[in-house]
Amino acid sequence: MNKPKIVVLGAGYAGMMTTKKLTQNLGIDEAEIVLVNKHNYHYETTWLHEVAAGTINHNRARFMISDVISPNRVRLIYDSVVEVKRDENLVVLENSEISYDYLVISLGFVTNTFGIKGMEENAFFIQDIDSCQLIREHIEYQFAQYKNGEEKDDDSLTILVGGGGFTGIEFVGELAEKVPQLCKKYDIDRSKVRIINVEAAPSIMPGFDKDLVTYAKKSLQERGVEFREGAAIKECKADCFVVGEDNEEIKAGTIVWTGGVTGSPVLSKSGFELTKGKVTVNGDLRAPGEDNIFILGDCAWVMNEAEGRPFPPTAQAAMQHATTCANNIKALLHNEPLTNFVFDDKGTVASLGVTDAMGTVFSGTKLYGKSAATMKKVIDNRSLFLQGGPRLLLKKGKVRPF
Ligand code: FAD
Ligand code: NAD
Repeated sequence: MNKPKIVVLGAGYAGMMTTKKLTQNLGIDEAEIVLVNKHNYHYETTWLHEVAAGTINHNRARFMISDVISPNRVRLIYDSVVEVKRDENLVVLENSEISYDYLVISLGFVTNTFGIKGMEENAFFIQDIDSCQLIREHIEYQFAQYKNGEEKDDDSLTILVGGGGFTGIEFVGELAEKVPQLCKKYDIDRSKVRIINVEAAPSIMPGFDKDLVTYAKKSLQERGVEFREGAAIKECKADCFVVGEDNEEIKAGTIVWTGGVTGSPVLSKSGFELTKGKVTVNGDLRAPGEDNIFILGDCAWVMNEAEGRPFPPTAQAAMQHATTCANNIKALLHNEPLTNFVFDDKGTVASLGVTDAMGTVFSGTKLYGKSAATMKKVIDNRSLFLQGGPRLLLKKGKVRPF
């Protein structure tokens, strides 16, 4: 008899952990497991702001999938998912097709420009390894060009970051570390370089703890980051954001948009019913009306029933989805009842550069400065450990002292 085929789409946090848990939950004869990913490597999405600023090398933030998931146990396919044909139990890839009995969609996020004019064409995005390498190289090019060019345009050294959520703030924190190094490398006075964060809401990190936001802002301002709060970006041109009622133009040589994310476009292509680009899944993480399709991570809205709104999309949640999903697939194979996802909130810590951070841990304890920065590294290392054990932690872990 043919073994049931479980196909996992996307090797991010949710996909890697689901695959790993499935190999632990199921015997070799129980199911065939297939993992499909665009690249032959996994990257730590939560480190992408560091790659974009150039405070870590991009190779540090990625590892080969086959180094942690055995190709003898899991069939690994490196290809891009185009569409899921649900009525045929078929996934269309760029270069082939694959059928499934059980499907896990964990294709992550794409940057959401909300249709803002010119954003798609003129801004860089913190989206994956390639897009972040582009940002790093563009910034360095601006410095080299300024140093070597005949005409000195000071605006070319300005780095503009649109959106002051966690991604935008973590990114300007890294820039505050990197810019002095670039100034030294290219003999450019630090005062010539501006890092400007533009946020539509009255404050950066809207909705987050006020004391922690105040701390973050002060720490970043002391290191030369400027904030424009209550300034909605209406348009992005090649050399500026157009902001506010009076259409003020803020000029820059590098423009990065960190104003929000949405689910993979594969979801809409596959005809799922979407809310703001994602599927609102059932408590057991299956897509509504689908017995054999699970949707996880940044592709899913998982309702926080107590608060009547979905949990925010985070790596922490994506990894926890994986455990519930792998257990539920095992339950389906064994004709057992499925369980609902329960989120275990371990807190939120945001980095503000290499040696500074802030956040809440253990049900609300606030952390600032070096202790928070240490905690952030512990969290980053935990992700590596969960995926690849001590070997991966030793290879890629953030173990260096400050
Ligand atoms: P992802 O990790 O995005 O993985 C998706 C995978 O699918 C990738 O491997 C991608 O290559 C692959 N893929 C995409 N499209 C296709 C396709 N068509 N075909 C084949 N493969 C495809 N959360 C936290 O909890 N803590 C943090 O500190 C934190 N920091 C963050 C910092 C930054 C800069 C950013 C951008 C996000 C951060 N987040 C953090 C949020 C967190 O990274 C996401 O919630 C998390 O990555 C979602 O995991 P995922 O598995 O759904 O998707
Ligand atoms: P986000 O949606 O959380 O933040 C986007 C920000 O852009 C918001 O503050 C919003 O007000 C602002 N914005 C939107 N439109 C704008 C406009 N036209 N003009 C100016 N500002 C505008 O997106 P994100 O920061 O990319 O975060 C995505 C998810 O990843 C969130 O769930 C976040 O919690 C998570 N994340 C977590 C961490 C962490 O835990 N350390 C780090 C990064 C991201």
